[in-house]
Amino acid sequence: MPTSLSGARVVTPGGVLDPGWIRLRGSMIGDVGAGRVDDGVTLDGHWVLPGFVDLHMHGGGGHDVATSTAELRGAVDFHRSRGTTSTLVSFVAAPVDRLCTQLSWVAGRPAGGVLGSHLEGPFLAESRRGAQNPDHLREPDLGVVRELLGAAGGTLRVMTVAPELPGALDAIELLLESGVIPAIGHTDATYEQASAAVARGARLATHLFNGMRPIHHREPGPVLAALDAGLAAEMIHDGVHLHPAIVRMVAAHPAVRLVLVTDAIAAAGVPDGDFELGGQRVVVRGGVARLAGSDALAGSTLTMDVAVRRTVLDAGLPMQQASAAASATPAAVIGAAGSVGAIAPGRSADLVVLDDELRLVAVLVAGAVVAGELPGRR
Ligand SMILES: [Zn+2]
Repeated sequence: MPTSLSGARVVTPGGVLDPGWIRLRGSMIGDVGAGRVDDGVTLDGHWVLPGFVDLHMHGGGGHDVATSTAELRGAVDFHRSRGTTSTLVSFVAAPVDRLCTQLSWVAGRPAGGVLGSHLEGPFLAESRRGAQNPDHLREPDLGVVRELLGAAGGTLRVMTVAPELPGALDAIELLLESGVIPAIGHTDATYEQASAAVARGARLATHLFNGMRPIHHREPGPVLAALDAGLAAEMIHDGVHLHPAIVRMVAAHPAVRLVLVTDAIAAAGVPDGDFELGGQRVVVRGGVARLAGSDALAGSTLTMDVAVRRTVLDAGLPMQQASAAASATPAAVIGAAGSVGAIAPGRSADLVVLDDELRLVAVLVAGAVVAGELPGRR
């Protein structure tokens, strides 16, 4: 276990220290500063970022979080090896009793780094369902919300709702009162309908642009309603779901709070093949996941390290902004910014080391290397 790191470009909330150093105190970050320290592991030519925080993850490494606790753990471990040191676990629409079972797995604290669950359904618009199973979509119902909250035992962090559905605004209000971040997504809402959801408590937009009414110059829809209101906006920057120019445009919005997510399914990190999502068959070819027999994208095979690299190299955002979108902003959205998401004293020593070309070199969790290895190690 290293006690300090030195010589890398260190991405901190106040800016990039080039070079900078980090002193670890046990599992925590003790101190951070510009320049060098003599006793550290030398990381010249590298970047050190805070560990990634993914708010939207369905699987990875061949594991589907909706299958069992063991599979859930497998997916979390896979993404941790790619730099996601804190994550939500996302469940797609399913029968309510099944969702309750899945939520109870997360309530049982199945693995380190799991900050809670995200329900992506079942209150979603059929017309914007993407790869969601239409058999399991339903209209918002406060009784169902209470049932889900009960099963989650305080670990439900985010729920995606289509705000134009009857009863959706009441559900959004109940979620917020219950400590859950209401997200708008899989929605055909107009700008006004989405703005009404914001007024009642929506705080996040689920994969902005994907699974929602697109921008029209006379009806800007949920995309601009979310951005104008300063909602945190998830983006799946895998080179398939969004053009880099769209990421660049969103990043330039004056009220933007960009959040990079993977929306990864079991197929992330494994060869092309046939998979399942929410009881439907998904075919992955060339790393692109689609519902069998359809053009609909069915999640991604993205990992957060690749999302960050694309955001800097393809969309042209500064590393400071890309890193914030991958760590500090998602941590803040779910109220975890006091413990994770930043390289600052008192935070968990969850760190990602990238090389000069932004390729993943090592991942540290609570100060210990869990994937890759530190170069120049003493
Ligand atoms: Zn999803």
